[in-house]
Amino acid sequence: MTAEAGLPDTLRDLPTWTPDARELADMELVLAGVYRPLTGFLGSFDTAMVIAGGRLADGTPWPVPVTLAVPKELTDHERIVLQDPEGVPLAVLQVVERWQDPTTNAWQLAGPLEALRAPAHGPFHRLRRRPDEVEPGAGPLLAVATGDPLHRKQLGQLRQVAEGLGARVLVLPLLSGAHDESLVRAVLGVRKELPEGTQIIPVPLPARGDAPDRDILLHAHVAAAYGATHLLAEREVEGTAIPVAVPEPWAYDADVEVWRPVARIEPDHVQAELTPERLGELLDAGEPVPDWFTPPAVAAELALARPPKRSRGITVLFTGLSGSGKSTVARGLADALVERGGRTVTLLDGDVVRRLLSAGLTFSRADRDANVRRIGFVAAEITRHGGAAICAPIAPYAATRAEVRRMVSAAGDFVLVHVATPLEECERRDRKGLYAKARAGLIPEFTGISDPYEAPDDADLTLDTSRLTPDDAVARVLDLLVEGGWVRPE
Ligand code: ADP
Repeated sequence: MTAEAGLPDTLRDLPTWTPDARELADMELVLAGVYRPLTGFLGSFDTAMVIAGGRLADGTPWPVPVTLAVPKELTDHERIVLQDPEGVPLAVLQVVERWQDPTTNAWQLAGPLEALRAPAHGPFHRLRRRPDEVEPGAGPLLAVATGDPLHRKQLGQLRQVAEGLGARVLVLPLLSGAHDESLVRAVLGVRKELPEGTQIIPVPLPARGDAPDRDILLHAHVAAAYGATHLLAEREVEGTAIPVAVPEPWAYDADVEVWRPVARIEPDHVQAELTPERLGELLDAGEPVPDWFTPPAVAAELALARPPKRSRGITVLFTGLSGSGKSTVARGLADALVERGGRTVTLLDGDVVRRLLSAGLTFSRADRDANVRRIGFVAAEITRHGGAAICAPIAPYAATRAEVRRMVSAAGDFVLVHVATPLEECERRDRKGLYAKARAGLIPEFTGISDPYEAPDDADLTLDTSRLTPDDAVARVLDLLVEGGWVRPE
């Protein structure tokens, strides 16, 4: 592995590609040796065998597909440079097979990876040690792989199982791309509640979601690569690389105010669990997370990761035909929020968008799409910083709106308002004379006339301004925001 800055001459002419977050994570784990015996991305046969039976073509157990999707243009190269999202080259892929995913038809490249430099992106990367950088210790090592903070129950179970095995402990916080720093801080924050000498090594391993058994198999594999002898998990799964230790059920004993195995608690002293839904409600309302449930350091991280709705970032996206009333209602909403106080408000509409954000863009389909994406990007940043972004582009295409929703939702909350004023009414208003021009063929691809408007089926609110006064329309949106908890009632 080389650490110098430049790309070697021999690689300078190779095409580059930035894999998505999951693929980058897989690549990091392959290169770190965590995914041994894998040396790169899988081909079609291995992938089919893994999906069908959890084994590579040569019979080696392997739980999940590790694949790389690329655009078709990249499939006629022998080698490509894979880079991180900032464009830093990380590895070279030696292409041995190009194939199409049978369900999505997306092109895939398979072959071994050669590291150019260690990945250095992402918070806490100094904790992300490779197995060969970790001191091997003596005796049993109990690993727990978790995408959630360790609360008092998990801490108690972990200590009990570790004690029973006489094992040291390794915690592998699983990074998924959302609130990773928070998870790592929450685990570091309970260090003193963990057995002495516990190691904490974050691993980029988003849950595969649909296959929990395979997740356990993969976690066992990763844990074994780090030298673990046991994996703490909620159930045993056939064929794990190391044995699974299943903790006995624990509960909170309200009588003596400690967590302990249920078997040792008088039945009427067992306190009901705090469900994830209830926990979410407490955080949304800004109420304290009870100390019996989780240590204060974890509670503080939970509140940072999911702030009370009243101070959580939010984007309200108005979508609808030209002249439907988006700007009018958006402006009214912005004013109303500023008048109420308690929130910083940014209106992304009209002049500020045309003169700055989208200067130079035309009304072509591609440019209008770019406009919506730029607005979405800025709105997502405003949302990440706890502000309220109010946007009013036409946003006629469902796919682009979905993209904005994704960007914003990763940072906070998203509310979609469909201003569904009928076309006839918009055209009758024709405030800017645009419909007349469009009808005359002077504006090509005009939404509603010569270009489609894809009405949303995921709107949180639909307004028809031909049946509402502007004030009433604003009031409807405000009501929605108050009911949802984002804005305080008057
Ligand atoms: P858009 O931003 O969707 O292109 P605008 O808000 O710029 O639409 O224009 C909508 C026009 O419709 C304005 O002239 C506005 O005064 C008028 N209008 C009439 N009734 C309403 C209503 N209930 N809500 C919003 N606008 C209305």
